[in-house]
Order: sequence, then C-alpha cells, then structure tokens
Amino acid sequence: MVFRFALIIGIFIAGASPAQSAQYLVKNQTEYFVAAKKVKAGDIIILANGEWRDFEIVLSAKGTKKKPITLISEEAGKVIISGQSNLRIGGKHILVTGLVFRNGYSPTGEVISFRRTKGDLAYDSRITEVVIDHFNKPDRFESDYWVGMYGQRNRFDHNHLVGKSNKGVTFAVRLDSKDSQKNHHRIDHNYFGPRPVLGSNGGETLRIGTSKYSMFNSHTLVENNYFDRCDGEVEIISSKSGANVYRGNVFFESSGTLTLRHGDGNLVENNVFMGNGKDHSGGIRVINRDQIIRNNYMEGLRGTGFSSALTVMNGVPNSPVNRYVQVDNAVVENNSVVDSSRITFAAGADKERSAPPVNSQFSNNMLSGFGDGTFIKVQDDVSGIRFADNLLTVGKVEKPIAGISNTSVALNRADNGLLYPEGLNVGASRDLKPVTRDQVGVSWYAKPATGDRFGKGKDVAVAPGEDSLTKALAKAEEGDRLVLSAGDYVVNKLLPLDKAIAIVGPTDAVAKITFARPSLFEIRERGSLSLSNVLIDGALAPDSVGNAVIRTTSYPIQSNFVIALDRVNVANLDVNKSFHVIALGKSSFADRISIKNSNFLNISGSIIQAAAETEDYGQYNAEYVSISESNFQDIGGEAFNIYRGGRDESTFGPHFSLSESNFLNVGKGGNNASGAAMVLHGVQHSDIQKSNFADSAAIKIVHTVGRPQTRVAGNGFSATPAPIVEELIWAGEPRVQMSDNVMSDEVAK
Ligand code: CA
Repeated sequence: MVFRFALIIGIFIAGASPAQSAQYLVKNQTEYFVAAKKVKAGDIIILANGEWRDFEIVLSAKGTKKKPITLISEEAGKVIISGQSNLRIGGKHILVTGLVFRNGYSPTGEVISFRRTKGDLAYDSRITEVVIDHFNKPDRFESDYWVGMYGQRNRFDHNHLVGKSNKGVTFAVRLDSKDSQKNHHRIDHNYFGPRPVLGSNGGETLRIGTSKYSMFNSHTLVENNYFDRCDGEVEIISSKSGANVYRGNVFFESSGTLTLRHGDGNLVENNVFMGNGKDHSGGIRVINRDQIIRNNYMEGLRGTGFSSALTVMNGVPNSPVNRYVQVDNAVVENNSVVDSSRITFAAGADKERSAPPVNSQFSNNMLSGFGDGTFIKVQDDVSGIRFADNLLTVGKVEKPIAGISNTSVALNRADNGLLYPEGLNVGASRDLKPVTRDQVGVSWYAKPATGDRFGKGKDVAVAPGEDSLTKALAKAEEGDRLVLSAGDYVVNKLLPLDKAIAIVGPTDAVAKITFARPSLFEIRERGSLSLSNVLIDGALAPDSVGNAVIRTTSYPIQSNFVIALDRVNVANLDVNKSFHVIALGKSSFADRISIKNSNFLNISGSIIQAAAETEDYGQYNAEYVSISESNFQDIGGEAFNIYRGGRDESTFGPHFSLSESNFLNVGKGGNNASGAAMVLHGVQHSDIQKSNFADSAAIKIVHTVGRPQTRVAGNGFSATPAPIVEELIWAGEPRVQMSDNVMSDEVAK
C-alpha cells in the first residue's frame, strides 16, 4: 500500500506537468490498445475498475529509470482479469501493479510473461502487487507457467500466487537466450500460496533455468518469499543454473525440497523450513559444485531419502548435464536441523551415482533428530567431507562420523520462534528473523484459510422423502452439513457436488438413501464429499455402464478433492457385474479418500477404482487412500484398485494404508480382470496390517519406480492365496516387509 500511495503522489506530480507525461484512464480493450501504442516514458495507463474478460494485455515500450511506463489498476484489487487472458511485457522500465487474474486461464503457455515475443524481452521492469488466483487451464495435465521471466534486471515482488493445480512450473526463470542469462532478477516478498499435489511431474513452484542452460550463471535473487503448503511435487524450488541466491525465504508445511538440481555456485542462506510434522516436508538437496548452504533453520521435517532436511547427493562421474554432477567444494555450515527425520550424505549412491562428495565441509551445524530410526544416513564414502564442530543433541548416526559429537543439550525457543541450544553458539544465528505471511504478497487480498473444508458452513436439517436431499443439496453452500434423520431418502437425480458438503445421518437410527440413476453423487470442480452414519442401497439403480455410488464428472477436474466415509453402510450394488462404490475418472485427483468404521456388502464391482490412467505418464488418481476398521463381504471386483504408471519419480504418492478390516469373499467376481482382491500398482507407500482375508482372492502389489515402501504385517489369510509382490524394474528380490501374517486353509462359514 505504501508503494501504491507513493505512485499516486507520483501521478499527481506528473499530472501537474502535462507536457512531460500523460495519463490514460481506459475503460475497455480498444481504449487500452490505443493508449498502449502511444505511451512514452513517464506515462501511466490506468485500467478502470471492473471485470476485463478475455483480455490479452500487451505492453511493450521504453521507459527510463526515472520515468517508467506504468500500468496500474484504478483501485488495487478492483480490476479483475478473467476468461482467456494474460499479460506480456517487453521493452524497458515497465511497471505493472494492482491486477487480479481470476476465473479464467491463459490461452497461451504463460499467464504473465516478461517478454512480448522471443525478440522483445523485458528489461529493468517490475511486476508488483498482482494476484493470480486458481487461474488454471481446464485440464490439469495441460501445461503452462503462471509467470515466465526473461530479459534482465527484472523484479517480481509482493505478488500473490495461489492454487495452481494444472501441470507446469508456477514460476519459471528462463535462460534460453544470452539476453536472459546473468539476469540479476529479483524475486522477493511474494506469497506462493498452496499448490496442491499434482499427481505427476511438473508441479514445481519455482524453477530457475533448465538442464540445457545449467552451465550459465543466472544471478537471480530469491529473497524473503513465503512458500505456504507448496506440495505440487518433490521439488518446491528446482535450481537449474549457477550463481543464484536463495535468502530469507520461509517454507511452511510444504512437501518437497529446495533442490540445487543443476548449476554451480549457488548460495542458500537464512531460510526457514517449518514442516510441522507434515509428510515429506524437506529442506535442501545439494548437487553440483561450489554450493554454499549456511545459516538455514529446519524444524519438524518428515522427509527422508532425497527429501531429507539436508541431502548431500552422490554424483555421476563425468556426468552429462541432465544427470547428477558430483558435489565438489560444498560448504554446509551453521545450519540448525531440529525435530526432523533425516539427514542423508552421499544420497542416491548406486552403480551410476558412484562419485561421493569431495573437497567439502560440514561444520558448526546443530542437529537434532525425530523418532527412533536413523537420523543421519551415510550411503557412501564421506571422507571427502570435512566434519567439524557439529552438535548432535538427539538421533542415531548410521556410521560414526568424527566431527559430529553427541551431546545432550536443552533447546530453548527464542523470541523469533526458533529453537537454540542452551549456552552454545552452534547452528543458525540468533538474529534470524523469518518473514511472516503478513509481510509478503498484497495486503488487500485474503490469504487462504488452513484446515479442512468440511463443516465450516451451517447445519441444514433434511427430512426423509423423495428428492428432499436433492433440493437441500442444490441450496447448500460451501462447508454446509446436511443433517438427515431416520427414514428413507429417495434420490431421482444425480447429485452434483461443486462444493465441500458433509451429509450426516443419525447415530441411533437408520437414514437410508436409495437412488434411481446409475450414480448417486458426482464430484465436479471444487466438489468434496463427507458421508457419515448413512445406509446407501443400490437396489433402485438401473443397469448402466459405469454404475458407481460416487463418481467424478467425465470432464477434467482442476481442483483436488476429498472423499471421506465414516460409519457408512453400502449394500446391493449388483444390478450388473461392475457396480462400484467410488470410481475416479481421468484427469481427476483426490488428495484423500478415507473409509473407516464402514460396511460393504454384496457389491459386484470395486469399493475404490482409482486406476483411470492408461498412457503410463504417471498421472495417478489419489494421493492418500486410507481404510480402517471396516468390513467387506461378497465384493466381486478388486476392493481397491490403485494405479500409478510410468517411470517418473517426481511424486511422493500414491499412499495406501489398510488396517483392522475384514474381507470375506472378495475379488472373485467373473468381471474382475485382475483376479485379485486388491491391486496396488506403482503405489509408493503401502501399509496393510491387522486385517483378515477369508475365502478371497490374493492381494497384488506391483512395484514400479522409486523406492516403494511396502509392509504387510499382522494379517490373517484363510483359504486365501498369499500376497503377490512383483517388481517391474528393480532386479533384486521383491521389496516388501512381511511379518506376523498367519496363513490357514480354514474355510470361513
Ligand atoms: Ca520435477
């Protein structure tokens, strides 16, 4: 706001001397383009308040340092750019501020571009206080950048970027011509808001360079930005060029790491990573030469492997640019790692990555682990790292390292919110001051709330009867709970979900839902569903291809959704041979599907079909699938079919967990192509425990890429074949932890 005020004073002064500069208040696109053609140094174009639809804004002109050419909204946040729109700037000293991109998407490969054409790049230009909010292409696997930065000495600051859910880096700095290298760009004080899990490669939040240009220096400064829940994929920042500085940024509850993927001589300092125990929250991954990692603070991180709080990689001897250059001359000093799961040295050591770090030092770091497992892993020779004066307060070291000594020291939380060892000067400095959410982005646009979307609205009582539920749902708003009473609910139309809705029945009586269409619920854009205490009976449903109680729309869905079932009974889905409970279609992605305390009886198809991908691009359907304390009887198809194909390793999921559940006569239907009781294909984390399988088909687990973690423990299998675990790529024995399972021939009654 201070900035805008200064600018308006500037306008006033400029207005006082009209001979020198002009102001154009434009009210439509024609007026805009007339003005954009005329502008000279010092001129200002003001977009009138309101919605500008299908507006491809182009501004290319030559301002000067003292007299930039300005494009500004009449009032901050009151100019909405919607529909098929974007912004391209070229020339020199262009300044853009106050716009909101919302309710639409770019028809090209970028929403904001610091170039008009390949030959007309922007220099010394600035974009500040601009919002891009869920401005996603309709298909989540159609790719674009929200910001493409080219040219030199440009600045992108105090902007608000939230909710990118389609493929493609949120922000890309390109070095693809000489005029975009050694660029000295500044990217600072931006709010990089939640970026949901993409479910394939291409979900990075910031990328600087590409492997092809990684030998060039970028000299980009990334400072004081706030990365809030940036979960797109394994890399939050992918640094692929030299001489960049990452300083003073905060990474809050973000799954992934700042990765120095390609390029040398980068400086990473004064950053704060706060994981709060979130899965796969990581820190910094070091590859290449001359990297300096100092005075960073990591707390509550749960990432392991390549997503450890600190990962120092092994390299490939004489590595090609797109593989892993050996770590040489790295300095890792004065960092604090607290309450975190893992630090890994010589990570990724294998036949190809056989070059361990050399000429490096690791000193004066404060290290404190979380959990019972190994805190510091050493996967190859680390004699090329000089360890000195490090303090280890909690955690096991895989192999003893001289220079990492274990001392029990109390950690105290200082006024800056960070933990420091009592009386010792080891680790991050005490004057570190993490940037806050309020200090980044814009003040006039609300930052997204945290937590669950369900139950934040009002309670609406819905009486039993024909289509009472249909009518109530049509009127319901985001976060509402539809409260059913005992009795029969008959639904004659498909129930569309385009908001988060909870449907809740009584605990002491039965609310029964029957439906006369092939499906009961359809998840659409922004839809999510929580069901509890209801009985769903498929007896009235007609025979149709693709019968399912809950299905996704046949159109692509941009937004990730949640389906949660608790104390739900489902029965009699048997009008044909493949009637599913939950069926996810292509280009749809569930953050979570959870089923607990529920019963499923007499179902010809599957409980969860999340296997829509056929091309093997690694575009899967669900990140977390968790089942607990539930019963499954007479299920013809695979109870759960989760598929993630391809060979890409940029995702953490899918995750599958099953516990304390019973299966009787599951997976033996004539239409079950796999012939299995469940199929987990390419799932990265599978945990099947304390469950009973009787008179059922085998469980089938197929491992593809990555390092799948699979455990089958404490289960009973009676008159059911043993689990089948296959490896498609790994040459060794199947990687599965099998323990305490009991096999028997006893046939259940
Ligand atoms: Ca990637």
